[in-house]
Amino acid sequence: SRQWTLLARPQGHLRDGDVRLDEVQVPDPGPGEVRVRNTWLSVDPWTRSQMDEAPTYVPSFPLGSPVEAEAVGVVEAVGVGVEGVHEGDEVLHGKGWREVSLVDAADARVLDTSVVPAQTWLGVLGTTGLTAYVGLLDVAGFREGDVVLVSGAAGAVGSVAGQVARLRGASAVVGLAGTPEKVRWLLDDAGFTAAADYHDAPPEQLLTDLLPGGADVYFDNVAGPTLEAAIPRMRTHGRIALCGAISGYGSTDEPAGPSTFHLARGKRLTMRGFLVGDHLDRTDAFVADMTRWIAAGELAHRETVVDGVEATYEALRGLLAGANTGKMLVRLPSG
Ligand code: NDP
Repeated sequence: SRQWTLLARPQGHLRDGDVRLDEVQVPDPGPGEVRVRNTWLSVDPWTRSQMDEAPTYVPSFPLGSPVEAEAVGVVEAVGVGVEGVHEGDEVLHGKGWREVSLVDAADARVLDTSVVPAQTWLGVLGTTGLTAYVGLLDVAGFREGDVVLVSGAAGAVGSVAGQVARLRGASAVVGLAGTPEKVRWLLDDAGFTAAADYHDAPPEQLLTDLLPGGADVYFDNVAGPTLEAAIPRMRTHGRIALCGAISGYGSTDEPAGPSTFHLARGKRLTMRGFLVGDHLDRTDAFVADMTRWIAAGELAHRETVVDGVEATYEALRGLLAGANTGKMLVRLPSG
């Protein structure tokens, strides 16, 4: 079976030789382990961060070790002493970027695929969905009637953040995304009030046009010049959830702080960074709300799918360059 190995630390952008697809023998599961034939692999920005020596918020991969991210698959062998996970179960785990994974049974979550297909647990019902949910409701302290700005709005996290705001009674939801098609999707399917392609004008101008009365909440997936332009557009007592900084992920420079930061005091802004891993106690509430919204057809969700384990690295490059709408996934032959 094949798996990706990290060979070199990327220098800014990802290069061909930074990773390699290796052929490996996956042994039978030991005590407490299960062997999983993966059907879908998750492709995430933080995998790029984990390739760096000093990642921002997740442990880095040692050189020469496998690249890992979330995946779902079917359990094909169960080691002694495993309880609660059975052959044939569809499970979610963190040993992706490979065809077959050996997983501690304690780290494998058996999925309910009666209502949604397994890969939904990697996206809208998974970590990116939860990130959007807690980032908006708990970190930004969203309140009904708020005007909400979302960057990276057509991505996995951003598209859910904007829609949770809509479903919870935002008075307007404004999105920034990278192509005219994404903007159309936000307006036509995801129910955003307004949206724009951030390539069309400098962010100050775009946000002045899109937010004539300012914003109460900014869900920030990108940082950089967009955050700098958003601060002056925030209303008094506005709240900014610092979720991601993808505009800087391909850069080797230390990111600069926003030059507009001084405005935060007079506006009495709250800016809070967060990591979804600190909010796992919200999973049940999130899954309950999200399942209801999906079943009622109230939440548009899309996946961008590429095929084959060999396409995973290219899919990550694509993700960082904006090739995806919604969740970026790799489908393996049995998926
Ligand atoms: P997305 O599905 O949003 O994919 C990444 C998107 O980023 C691309 O599609 C692209 O869309 C956009 N992008 C790339 N470069 C730039 C740029 N220079 N400026 C603006 N947008 C850019 O990924 P996720 O939904 O998985 O992640 C979104 C953000 O959330 C990331 O910053 C990630 O690190 C963060 N995150 C944070 C977590 C936390 O716990 N705090 C947990 C999970 C994710 P476009 O065409 O619009 O440019």
